Amino acid sequence: MAKVLITGISGQDGAFLARSLLNRGDEVWGAMRRGSTSKTGRLKELGIRDKIKFCTLEVTEFANVQNILNEIRPDLIFNLAAQSFVADSFQFPHYTSDVNYMGVLNILEAMRLLKLDAKLYQASTSEMYGDVLEKPQTEKTPFNPLSPYAVSKLAAHSIVVNYRQAYDMFATSGILFNHESELRGYEFVTRKITSWLARIKLQNAEAMPLGNLSSVRDWGYAPEYTDMMIKMLDHGSPDDFVISTNTEYTVREFLFLAAQEFGFDLYSEGEGIEEKCYDRKTGKMIAFVDQRYFRASDVVYLRGDNSKAQEVLGWKPEVLAPEIARRMAIYDLKKAAVNTQGL
Ligand code: NDP
Repeated sequence: MAKVLITGISGQDGAFLARSLLNRGDEVWGAMRRGSTSKTGRLKELGIRDKIKFCTLEVTEFANVQNILNEIRPDLIFNLAAQSFVADSFQFPHYTSDVNYMGVLNILEAMRLLKLDAKLYQASTSEMYGDVLEKPQTEKTPFNPLSPYAVSKLAAHSIVVNYRQAYDMFATSGILFNHESELRGYEFVTRKITSWLARIKLQNAEAMPLGNLSSVRDWGYAPEYTDMMIKMLDHGSPDDFVISTNTEYTVREFLFLAAQEFGFDLYSEGEGIEEKCYDRKTGKMIAFVDQRYFRASDVVYLRGDNSKAQEVLGWKPEVLAPEIARRMAIYDLKKAAVNTQGL
């Protein structure tokens, strides 16, 4: 049985990761930032809230990080805490950098000073690739980040590699491509789509404004990705791994796939910022492109080559975008139905 510390346990990935670790008998400590104790909805939903030991941790406060690591002395640390929403990072670049970069530097430095014999997982991201021309992207593809979020994550990724090399620490980075689920945050485009479609269907909500519908993403299913995080630390040596499905879908395709589950049959009219999506059956406008949702600089194509993870970790993604859209749509439809009935 391992003693595990998860930062960012209240997020989508933290919840699924904690469930898998508890299932294999690990002792799970969940680090919550100050004032965040009420944000345990996802853990409650998975029925694991009472099985987790919580501690308060400010990842940006070095002394606090050092004290907590010294008190708990975990065998495994999963650093998932992040200001993880790209759009917000343009508004809060300093804060994003503090949490995403200084957070992991504090953990690494505390591990080093405490001589903690623990393995660290760092949540790196495909956003670090930005607008590289290489397709699909591998662990060796050069990075070219296009947002304060991606820059902060690249700095974090680099310092993890540096501590691994300089101090021989077990510090592994998972370069995870977008992964979604029924527990995805509402600010992310997939969840915005399925939750909004549910409100259009059941509550006659207005048409949904969206950003660049032609952006391409490689979407996987979050519970599968968090299981790979565990595999990465169970692996004999620290390394970097791309976790992706090596499939590509546009935001438009995800929208159309999800819409089918609600009984809509969508088609598009217009191009670029003029594009609007209508339901063939009713003629009702369901979604439209709104320039306000375009970013200052936008990542338009991400697709990951997962060969290394397949070979070394035995990775094989099972749930792909159409099934993810279906699961999220079913979940949000049920949720909206409960709300509509006032239950
Ligand atoms: P979420 O946004 O769902 O969760 C983020 C977590 O970080 C939450 O628990 C949040 O806590 C915590 N957090 C935010 N700000 C702070 C802070 N100042 N101090 C401490 N904790 C903080 O993200 P996901 O679960 O989807 O992602 C997990 C990690 O993986 C993140 O680092 C993300 O950047 C990365 N990642 C995610 C991908 C994805 O597609 N999901 C793809 C690639 C990487 P609170 O509840 O208090 O806000």
